[in-house]
Amino acid sequence: QRETIDVLTIGAGGGAYPAAFRLAKAGLSVVMTDPKGMMSGNCLYEGCVPSKAIRETGEILEGQRRFANLGLPGQVQVDYPRMVAHKDAIQARRYAQHAQELATCPNLRLISGSARFIDPHTVAVATGEGERHFHCRHIIVASGADVFVPPIPGAEHCLTSHDLYKPDPILKILPERMVVIGGGYIGLETASFFAAFGTRVVLLQKGPQILSGMDPSMVAMLLPLLNANIEMILNADVERIEAMGSGRRVHYRQGGVTQQVEGDVALMAVGRHPAIPAGTAEIGIEIGKRGIVVGPSLQTRFPHIYAAGDVNGQVPLFHAAVRQSLVAAHNILGGNRALDYADFHNVPTTIFTLPGAAYIGLTATQAAAQGIEVITGAYDFSEDSRAQILEAMGGGIRLFFAPGSLRLLGGWIVGIDAGQLIGEIGLAVANGLTAYDLAAFADQHPMSAEGIGKAARSIF
Ligand code: ADP
Repeated sequence: QRETIDVLTIGAGGGAYPAAFRLAKAGLSVVMTDPKGMMSGNCLYEGCVPSKAIRETGEILEGQRRFANLGLPGQVQVDYPRMVAHKDAIQARRYAQHAQELATCPNLRLISGSARFIDPHTVAVATGEGERHFHCRHIIVASGADVFVPPIPGAEHCLTSHDLYKPDPILKILPERMVVIGGGYIGLETASFFAAFGTRVVLLQKGPQILSGMDPSMVAMLLPLLNANIEMILNADVERIEAMGSGRRVHYRQGGVTQQVEGDVALMAVGRHPAIPAGTAEIGIEIGKRGIVVGPSLQTRFPHIYAAGDVNGQVPLFHAAVRQSLVAAHNILGGNRALDYADFHNVPTTIFTLPGAAYIGLTATQAAAQGIEVITGAYDFSEDSRAQILEAMGGGIRLFFAPGSLRLLGGWIVGIDAGQLIGEIGLAVANGLTAYDLAAFADQHPMSAEGIGKAARSIF
């Protein structure tokens, strides 16, 4: 059985479906394939949405603790099974919503199954009723990324973010003690949520820095603000994980000495790696260290084959995948010519700890490494009316301007509303606004966004 279609997407997540809808609405015949049989990829299945469904209870609890002097209960027993039920319900609601959206688009089909390349124009999809072959004029590879589990003995005794956040997850009761392996954003966020719920967390980081690769001054401002229930052990090289009844013992090496730490559960959070469809390398698509190699037009070596989202490893974030998906769609509509380009450098990124931190574009540290001396605008939340109202005065905003033009090159925020505020800073970066523009804008009082204008005004 072989069918000819205009476009096939491998995956139905953020890198796939925005393009699929745009192209189908433009009159092309489009097939999305995904073994989940549902749209929206890992973001809704085990990523952004379910993790935030769990997080926000932590945000409320931490706020309530800050208001303990007003008579609000400072220590609340959380009902984790009900939080999980809340998370599952949100996932179910959003899956239903996406199914409805799909039903409104006649040229677009979603086929449940895993796709593999046969040749540069032919894709086979393994469905429940056997394999179907598609001859495709254009292909968007958007197979995303999976949790990376390193080959450490006993790694199978660890949970992963998948086991915490997928629908009907493995972890349904609140652990008293948790060992988190990995001090990247997923490990630190999870540590932060569970610490807020009362779990005692030990976090083991292989290198000397938590959130390595992120701006050191942003990280240095964030870490002291996190819940004291998190103990961080640096330069800890995990050697093996041992199951002890229902608990876990993690053996790690630090400074030449082997030590152990125990928890009711251990979480493996050392990163994600691209999910490359079978046949990709065999047909000659280039695969680099981060994933499928593409330029800003999202085209692979084959002008009609695109790789959008986590699978190219450029910016593994849902919203980046969505933008990249649309770039691929526009270039398909342009006859596989590069008419639209993704900006891999200016994408808002948030670490959703409690409180959070967020950044976009060039930071002072990165600029210095490139020999650019930026002008830094600074504003601390200790001075901020909303932060004072919320009893959350830790953190602040830093904006980095190009010398001369005073164009905003990037910035970061630590503290209240970080994940929201980065949107406004991001829009300013993406549209080339300057310190003059930000300083002149009457941002709303008494909201945290007014700190952006104040940070800009601090340089004048
Ligand atoms: P992105 O945000 O980059 O789109 P996601 O990880 O959210 O990434 O979504 C990727 C989707 O691709 C997942 O739902 C996954 O099930 C699916 N997928 C992975 N490999 C294949 C494959 N070989 N064929 C079809 N779908 C795949």
